[in-house]
Amino acid sequence: MSSPSPALHLLEHVFGYRAFRGEQAAIVEQVAAGGDALVLMPTGGGKSLCYQVPALLREGCGVVVSPLIALMQDQVDALKELGVAAAFLNSTLEMDAAREVERAFVAGELKLLYVAPERLVTPRFLSLLARARLALFAIDEAHCVSAWGHDFRPEYLQLSVLADGFPGVPRIALTATADHATRQDIITRLRLETARQFVSSFDRPNLRYTIVEKKSAREQLLSFIRREHEGDSGIIYCLSRKKVEDTAAWLRTQEIKALPYHAGMEAEARARNQQIFIRDEGVVMVATIAFGMGIDKPDVRFVAHLDLPKSIENYYQETGRAGRDGQPADAWLAYGLNDVMLLTEMIEGSGSAEEQKAVERAKLSAMLGLCEATGCRRIAILGYFGEQTQPCGNCDNCLNPPKLIDHSESARKALSCVFRTGNRFGVGHLVDVLQGKQSPKVKEFCHDRVSTFGIGKDVDEATWRAIYRQLLARGALRLKLEGHGGLELTDAARAFLRGDAPLSLRARTEKFHYRGERGGE
Ligand code: ADP
Ligand code: ZN
Repeated sequence: MSSPSPALHLLEHVFGYRAFRGEQAAIVEQVAAGGDALVLMPTGGGKSLCYQVPALLREGCGVVVSPLIALMQDQVDALKELGVAAAFLNSTLEMDAAREVERAFVAGELKLLYVAPERLVTPRFLSLLARARLALFAIDEAHCVSAWGHDFRPEYLQLSVLADGFPGVPRIALTATADHATRQDIITRLRLETARQFVSSFDRPNLRYTIVEKKSAREQLLSFIRREHEGDSGIIYCLSRKKVEDTAAWLRTQEIKALPYHAGMEAEARARNQQIFIRDEGVVMVATIAFGMGIDKPDVRFVAHLDLPKSIENYYQETGRAGRDGQPADAWLAYGLNDVMLLTEMIEGSGSAEEQKAVERAKLSAMLGLCEATGCRRIAILGYFGEQTQPCGNCDNCLNPPKLIDHSESARKALSCVFRTGNRFGVGHLVDVLQGKQSPKVKEFCHDRVSTFGIGKDVDEATWRAIYRQLLARGALRLKLEGHGGLELTDAARAFLRGDAPLSLRARTEKFHYRGERGGE
């Protein structure tokens, strides 16, 4: 047998692994040979080795840009353990310690140096770079360069200096956020037009996706757990701390071992709950999204969302915490229109720049589109990440294809009612008008005199709400934010009004009773 390649030899003798995974071998080969690379790989896919191995294969030191200070420390500790000369430079270091790292770097004593982005772009560090021998630049969490990413960092924009100042040094950018807009941004802003792209599949075939409409969310959740996951470990995500507390307490009254976790709890109680979740079997963690980063529990059998995630990336990351062991696991989500309104208010009230808000709105609307999808969920999720696939046979829509009923005519009535009442009212009121109800608000605004009053008596309230949601998801309506959930028509409404765009809904097997639930689901 021929001797193994230097890369494989290193992988085995330094890192203790027998073989590269997926695209790792090709990426290592590209970068070790001095080429640039853009790596899109889901979390846990093994991105670190993609720059660590080439850094060790090449002469000089690999400089790794990372915004995550805590992870830097972990990585460096792990590398030192393996006998690799590694260090980091960030704000946690005392001046003396930082000077010593700088000295070792320039003296060629290091093989890997992790640097926070704001430090890398200082004149001081750039002059060190000019004096050191460089194996490569690795730009981790590269989506931080993009306003489309969920974690924009302005300092990342300055990383283009690496392309200009060090043309001979290979650069590898890595991220687990792969939607098309982010990817394009990374390429142009980091000057990676000629880099080879390595796109791993983001599919998690063992996850079964189910998205249901909220009726009474708690009961739906409970019956899901009882039916599918009695005694299993799981995570339930809620938007607010209060809902986390309430839901955990309520589940305990239902004999489910549920614990709360959110950033408002005492650090000690939080750590205790996390430890119980990781150690014991069958614990259900009810949490805000603060929970889960860096938690590696392989046998989480389900992730449930009681509130709508704000983007498909968030949904993907959060559901991705289920079934790490490769065994079947469930991703279950209940959503309602009130969620959309709440999230929209959060976006509008965030004080972010207008450009940022526009991005967030678009992301939310894509998420809603996923919820409303009548086809394979996996096709929709992976499609969002630019990946094509076949109907999966392992999502609610594949397993129970929804029966569709044409509602194009009702959609026209719904839109026309928005128009006749002045492009400013919320769904509750619009439905009252359509159904010809003499509510106080209808009387106040004399909406019993508009032409759409009472033209929708033949359709029940739940169906009207679903029609409005679809119209929102398809962009024919948008939420008016100053107006507490008021809706207005967009240009896209024309196609529906003209009859050029059909609209169908799932046939319902049961009637929902929204009346009593007004003002909160
Ligand atoms: P990412 O940064 O993509 O989230 P990591 O680089 O942290 O992923 O790797 C995830 C896990 O997979 C780590 O525990 C790592 O040791 C392991 N791993 C990566 N590549 C391999 C491989 N070729 N063989 C075995 N384990 C690997
Ligand atoms: Zn499917």
